[in-house]
Amino acid sequence: MNDVERFLAHAVQLEREAARRYEELAAAMQTLGNRTLHEFFSRMAHYSRLHLAQARARAGFRELPALAADEYEWPDGISPEIADWAGVDALMDARAALLLALDGERRGHAYYATMAATTGDAELRAIANEFASEEAEHVAELEKLVAACPA
Ligand code: ZN
Repeated sequence: MNDVERFLAHAVQLEREAARRYEELAAAMQTLGNRTLHEFFSRMAHYSRLHLAQARARAGFRELPALAADEYEWPDGISPEIADWAGVDALMDARAALLLALDGERRGHAYYATMAATTGDAELRAIANEFASEEAEHVAELEKLVAACPA
């Protein structure tokens, strides 16, 4: 992909889906009575919305294209609409919730890293690298939480 606006439209969609998933996970943890993870997932939802706003701001004066569902081009398995996420249910335990969140962050990281590695556009590469390193931090944070959460 070499079109920055098109890339940012994908980033906005990816972050929007991430925020929704985190809100679902936060709700599930509230049902479970896990206050720590409820707060953590709520905070991650907030970060996703910030990231979404940041992606929009990156477009500056440029108009982001409004893409129809079938106009997005996601590399294999990266689609934020991926079926895994239909699996968020109110009875999921803390570890399952963290693993789902980790999976989502890994997909986000893979998407941005792939875009950075494959684009011929220097601006797109710079933004994608920046987003990829934020996702890498999220992945690391979740890996720590998973490791601390007994099976
Ligand atoms: Zn993230």
